[in-house]
Amino acid sequence: MTSQYFRCHRLKHYRLLLRSYDRETSQDIELGPLLRALREGKDLQGREAQYTIEDGCIMYGQRVCIPRKFRKNVLEELHAGHLGIVKMKAIARSFVYWKNIDNDIEEAAKNCVDCARYKADPPKSKVHYWEYPSMPWERIHVDFAGPILNTRFS
Ligand SMILES: [Zn+2]
Repeated sequence: MTSQYFRCHRLKHYRLLLRSYDRETSQDIELGPLLRALREGKDLQGREAQYTIEDGCIMYGQRVCIPRKFRKNVLEELHAGHLGIVKMKAIARSFVYWKNIDNDIEEAAKNCVDCARYKADPPKSKVHYWEYPSMPWERIHVDFAGPILNTRFS
């Protein structure tokens, strides 16, 4: 399964969710007025210019805007794999959006023991330096290429 397929599948899932609860978007405190503005074709400026309507959902760039009522569910979904704050944010960035979503993700992951394990940065791999040779030809490095046409090049 390619990530593109996965992405489309996820987006479809959210859009279907929203389409079946179309009312929730129009009744949402933030999204309701925005939906009306978009439907009336108002010229939105700045950050707001990134909002569009697609399939009856408000999109923020490529992300589906989630009404308040479903945010808890979406957060739970994002949290399902206990991937930690950074990964949860990364996934959210591909699919879903609402104002302060990053804060809500931090809040959701903060008190979770499993997520805390991923909180710390992974240990950095050590850079290995070759010791400086004390005389010429003490050590030789050879890069091999191939086999190409049954021959190895060095
Ligand atoms: Zn967790």
